Amino acid sequence: MDGSALIAIERDVERSRGVSAALAVALARVTRDRRDEAWQDGLDLIAVIAGLKPACLLGRGARDEAWIDGLHAIAVREGLRSVAAAAWEPDARAAALPGWYLDATARRRAALPVLYLCRDAATLAKVAALSAAGRVTVADEAAFLGYPACCVAQHHAQTLELERLLAKMAERAAWGDLTGAARMIEAGVEPLPRSREEWASFESLTAIAPSRFTSVNMCDACAADGDAPAQILSRRYETLAARAQYPAR
Ligand SMILES: [Zn+2]
Repeated sequence: MDGSALIAIERDVERSRGVSAALAVALARVTRDRRDEAWQDGLDLIAVIAGLKPACLLGRGARDEAWIDGLHAIAVREGLRSVAAAAWEPDARAAALPGWYLDATARRRAALPVLYLCRDAATLAKVAALSAAGRVTVADEAAFLGYPACCVAQHHAQTLELERLLAKMAERAAWGDLTGAARMIEAGVEPLPRSREEWASFESLTAIAPSRFTSVNMCDACAADGDAPAQILSRRYETLAARAQYPAR
């Protein structure tokens, strides 16, 4: 390795340590129940800066606005590009989901934007286009969030199966009134399973295998094999966290 390459690595390490220090200050203000999720957000931001993933997203699920604002400020200072846009859902073209359900999820997505932090303007343009489409392919989601395609594929298949169940249960809960069922889905009200079989499928479809150092939901194959793509990726993030002196969980 020549001298200029070594200087570049040194500069990268310096930079990621500066970002870690700023993140540590913001993390200290996060409440205990949100810390785990926030910690992963911060490491994802470092991963975007380090070139491990083109983009990351914040604000899915329960939101901590102060944390999101803090992270956003750090990202902008580091030259990242940001856009508030719809969260992605799986491509449903082959899923046979009813039209009323798809329309209701599109309205829900538009009403609850998330924040994407992107490494550059070209990534931002593509991310915004995917959000405008709303439902994205496995290949696009894997590429832009830096996830293994096997894990995204299983996550999409599982989510679409869950969506079929939710559509059926919402229709039943609204006594067949599709406008009422659509209103429930749009508001994010989840109808409850009734039979033992429904509960069993609801539980298996909402189960996830979290990865230790990434925001990937691991597929069964990755969860079972320490040398599978998601596990290799997790180790890479673990190394990144150590090199950047990112605070412990
Ligand atoms: Zn996988």
